[in-house]
Amino acid sequence: MNNTTPQKNLIPRPPVVVVMGHIDHGKSTLLDYIRKSNVVDTEAGGITQHTAAYEAEHTDTEGNISKITFIDTPGHEAFAELRSRGAKVADVAILVVSAEDGVKPQTLDALKSIQAANVPYIVAINKIDKPNANIERTKQTLAENEIYIEEWGGKTPVVPISAKTGQGVEDLLDMVILTSQLEDLKADSDAKAEGVVLEAYLHKTKGITATIIIKNGTLKVGSYAISEHSYSPVRVIENFKGEKINEATFSSPVKIVGWTELPKVGAHFTVCDSKKEAEVLVRDYSLKEKGNKNIITPETVGAVYIPIIIKADASGTLDAISHEIKKLETENVRARIIHKSVGDINENDIRSGMGKFDNVVIGFNVKIDSQAQALIDREGVETKIFSIIYELGDYLKEVFEKRTPKFDVEEMKGQLKVLKFFSKMKDKQVIGGKVTKGSLHVKETVKIMRRDEEVGRGVVTELQHSKQKVGEVEEGKECGLCVDSKTDIAPGDLLESFIIVQK
Ligand code: GDP
Repeated sequence: MNNTTPQKNLIPRPPVVVVMGHIDHGKSTLLDYIRKSNVVDTEAGGITQHTAAYEAEHTDTEGNISKITFIDTPGHEAFAELRSRGAKVADVAILVVSAEDGVKPQTLDALKSIQAANVPYIVAINKIDKPNANIERTKQTLAENEIYIEEWGGKTPVVPISAKTGQGVEDLLDMVILTSQLEDLKADSDAKAEGVVLEAYLHKTKGITATIIIKNGTLKVGSYAISEHSYSPVRVIENFKGEKINEATFSSPVKIVGWTELPKVGAHFTVCDSKKEAEVLVRDYSLKEKGNKNIITPETVGAVYIPIIIKADASGTLDAISHEIKKLETENVRARIIHKSVGDINENDIRSGMGKFDNVVIGFNVKIDSQAQALIDREGVETKIFSIIYELGDYLKEVFEKRTPKFDVEEMKGQLKVLKFFSKMKDKQVIGGKVTKGSLHVKETVKIMRRDEEVGRGVVTELQHSKQKVGEVEEGKECGLCVDSKTDIAPGDLLESFIIVQK
């Protein structure tokens, strides 16, 4: 083949594995078993896991040793979150199915996630040590749910195991290696590290900490890790055992402390050599994101931080301004004063906030020097000068209001109590009820509430009052209605219509 692109130093990469399945089918027990039996122990008394993933070693029947990284977070949710952010963090999935219970709803949910992420998977039929275990029947339930196993001519490998006694676990790991070999996972140890953020949290004393999983290249102390709007100097790399190491390569999970913002789970990370480069990359990302900053939801951010730089003519004024700012803070919007000092606004003031998410520079009774002004013009940093304190207060109020995240909230508009159930054809249900709050309209979507819990949704397709078709029924009136819904409606249920408002 005539390949003109320079050949990289590609070598096989250990697989990253996620364990999924129905609750109580044995995911944690399996992860615990492998951690105990296949993690190389350097300390007496077993390892304490420090990250949301660990590295295991597996020796096959021919004596070949392979590494496998296991993601050890409460499987399903974590994986769904990672997947929803488009990250393909796992290379192979293990779908655990209990030999006692067979396929259950969450097994199918897990399968959907795995298939959507296009990750190859192995079924581990677990709990085969139990007296009620029935491997054949479990296989049957797999087939009934369109999981076609190899033994019966399909593609899905199945390994019977006991996560408790360890029976079959080595065979399962053999299968993981085999499956990953078919995927031809390769990476380049000479490349700069890149990968995915697995977890991120604020450590009380150490600062923002993230576990990242390296999918390519080598991560070295002294570099800078960048993920979207955040970066971190790589001062210390901690492996999953909590040991400090100087470099790490694929597919290791490592912990890095000192991020400027909370990185997002599932986000991609890369590295660069200098703080300056990291700042530029983060700023470019933030600038690109600016157009989208209103689509903040409670899931994507907890609180919004406004990075602020304050310059004033006297230190007393600085304190007064800081005090004003504190008063404006709410649960959803906080100020982060990056820097405050006496004197004119200079280039450094502008720079010190650059790369942050939309920082604000305010000056009171000071000037902007010419270099700073040039930088402001070039980078579009929001900078304001005031000489009247209440004007400054008003401006800040506006900034806080503007940046308060808007959430979509469903507000109840009408409520109907279901009194009678008449008939059902496919999803069309004919019922009778009384409007107890607001009013109900044709074509409205309703939540079906049972004992204060939403059990489903439907659409009102027809309303009848006094045997006449109507478009609306008001509070206090009884009516007949046709609702399209997959959920069976029963007397006593409440149907609630709603509107979506931004709050
Ligand atoms: P998860 O919810 O999928 O993480 O399930 P767990 O790992 O917490 O397991 C649920 C229960 O099943 C626990 O009581 C385990 O001890 C038990 N269990 C898990 N795997 C096995 C197994 O292979 N054999 C037996 N006898 N019990 C198991």
